[in-house]
Amino acid sequence: MDTAQVKKPYVPNEELEKKEIIRQYRALLRALKTKLKKGDKELVRRAFEMAAEAHRDMRRKSGEPYILHPLAVALITVEEIGLGVTSAICALLHDTVEDTEITLEDIEREFGSQCARIIDGLTKMSNIEESSNTSQQAENFRKILLTLAEDPRVILIKLADRLHNMRTLDSMSREKQLKIASETTFIYAPLAHRLGLYNIKLEMEDLAMKYTEPEAYFTIARKLQETRRERTRYINEFIKPIRERLQQEGFDFEIFGRPKTIHSIWQKMRKKGVSFEEVYDLFAIRIIFNSPPEREKADCWRVYSIITDFYMPNTERLRDWISNPKSNGYEALHITVMGPGGRWVEVQIRSRRMNEIAEKGLAAHWKYKEGTSTENRFDQWLQQIRELLSRSDSNTLDFLQDFKLNLFSEEIYVYTPKGDVKVLPAGATALDFAFAIHTDIGARCIGAKVNYKLVPISHKLHSGDQVEIITSQKQKPTEDWLNYVVTAKAKSAIKDALKEEKRQVAMEGKAMLEKKLDSMGVPASTANLNELMQYFHQTSLIDFYYQIAVKAIDLKELKHFVVNGDKLELPRTNPSPTNNLSGKDISLETSKNTHRKNEAELIIFGESSDKIAYKLANCCKPIPGDDVFGIITANEGLKIHRTNCPNAPQLLANYAHRIVKTKWAKNKEISFLTGLRIVGIDDVGVIHKITNVISGEMKINISALSIESQGGIFEGIIKVYIHDKEELDELVERLTKLDGIESITRLENA
Ligand code: MN
Repeated sequence: MDTAQVKKPYVPNEELEKKEIIRQYRALLRALKTKLKKGDKELVRRAFEMAAEAHRDMRRKSGEPYILHPLAVALITVEEIGLGVTSAICALLHDTVEDTEITLEDIEREFGSQCARIIDGLTKMSNIEESSNTSQQAENFRKILLTLAEDPRVILIKLADRLHNMRTLDSMSREKQLKIASETTFIYAPLAHRLGLYNIKLEMEDLAMKYTEPEAYFTIARKLQETRRERTRYINEFIKPIRERLQQEGFDFEIFGRPKTIHSIWQKMRKKGVSFEEVYDLFAIRIIFNSPPEREKADCWRVYSIITDFYMPNTERLRDWISNPKSNGYEALHITVMGPGGRWVEVQIRSRRMNEIAEKGLAAHWKYKEGTSTENRFDQWLQQIRELLSRSDSNTLDFLQDFKLNLFSEEIYVYTPKGDVKVLPAGATALDFAFAIHTDIGARCIGAKVNYKLVPISHKLHSGDQVEIITSQKQKPTEDWLNYVVTAKAKSAIKDALKEEKRQVAMEGKAMLEKKLDSMGVPASTANLNELMQYFHQTSLIDFYYQIAVKAIDLKELKHFVVNGDKLELPRTNPSPTNNLSGKDISLETSKNTHRKNEAELIIFGESSDKIAYKLANCCKPIPGDDVFGIITANEGLKIHRTNCPNAPQLLANYAHRIVKTKWAKNKEISFLTGLRIVGIDDVGVIHKITNVISGEMKINISALSIESQGGIFEGIIKVYIHDKEELDELVERLTKLDGIESITRLENA
């Protein structure tokens, strides 16, 4: 553990330095040994000499000769990422174009166009890293992803570069340390994860934490050290019977305990709000065995069977990534079993080949020989990135947020009716699936059939589902849709469609304004529009037109203006804003006007005649008597939500101009389907007692009833037709009084 905080000054010694450089260079050649073809060794030597010569007079912040850095990066590229000769050459030269006299043309002449392209990508990346504000970083991230889509080796070498910089961060200023560490957490660790480079991801997170949260880092490091002996003893006890049986069965294998990283322990402590002592899984057991490709899957399950002969598995925590590898290529079987002393222990089972992929990630897949590239899941993922990046008008920060969520999430596998597999993040819905197939299919999606059953667009999918999308030419994306999707692709497509829709509505507002101005005898000149926008406190023309179209801005207010030639002017002696000194007050005045207008149009609905068409929001299922508000939607007319609807704060904040006050009228003819969850103590007569209150005493119709009981506790869902809030309150009160009822809650969506 690195606890030494005092930096020893570096004393240059040319003899020792030369030896060290040669030692590192030989280590690189050794690592490359199996990959060297005829003439390659000579190429690597030339790259090394060119870099050494170019960086000759440069030193790192630590005082060491600069060439040690590109050498270390090349070694990581080969040893830890598993790349070959071309990448090693590029890694050796990665800082030359940026920091020395060497040009891209020099590199192209010496090593060919492929190396030149990769080094060009690396140079561009180090240029964009310089800026530091958030939206700039977001834009940078997008550019980085673009290079990834071109040649993944650029990113892989960049990751090696960043890893070495993180390993040698001690000699940087505190400010630089923080900047580099947070950038690593923000961009590079997620990328390493997505590319399947787990070890690099874990090391990056640990190193970053050492600088951003030093106190927590060193406390956990110390506690890990103190508890190590006890842990080793436990691991040995756990492993012993398994090792013996695996030997008897003739496996060629390795079994060992692997400590969890400091960062992941800390994450768990924070997420669960527990102390170090309460984190039970400080380690995982890993079994790696040799097996020919045709037997490895069966062997994984043989190992599983042996382990579960000794320890009880937790079936809910079985992760089978053999049958369905992750899209970054990861394959393994993870199980959690009850170990000695009643502790849950995770065991990871892999063949040697699977382990290679787990450690080298993408690089183990990535074959550079021409003509062998197969359509694997990683290629699909690259394709998705390309598509996303091509939508250049979407908001970069939003995109980044959505994209980052997708980088970290677990995945599910769903199938098209033809049996093609689509990889989606966990939590993805039928609508996400529709957008994953095609933007147009997503935009026209009205529902789906999941395993032949009809479901709404918001239906959450599970691994193994077969999904058929149902579309309609009349369908259009609405604001609500953003709540139904989790993929970056669906989100940005919906946002784009809404923007287009807003533009169309705005065009109507524009026509309305032009007609009004025409009747006043003034042109819609830029000067006049600016005058109006200032008055109405609008900053964008599109927004201004839109507000006019949805009547949030009342054109009657134009009567305050006087016409002077072809100019509109606001006279200083104007009746309304005279007493108001600041713009703020004027805006209050306008909003009051709007408010009055809404009150005048106060809608009382629920009457038997349906003068006003409205829909009840699905998110909160209001019934008469609830406090409600209405919102005018673009496609579905008036929608009624409960004021305590989970979506209310967002709706009220973003669409204030579309909110209409609404109130219920008394009505006994119409009833509304409402769901209740009832929890209580199980006893024989319970269903009878409940139904007796509902349909017997209160004469309320029941639409559905399901009760499940387990261990003496029952939980029931009852759907009833209720006339209004009063009736519901009375029903709840009566049910609560029954013996054994613990709680009754109203379902958000019945
Ligand atoms: Mn570098």
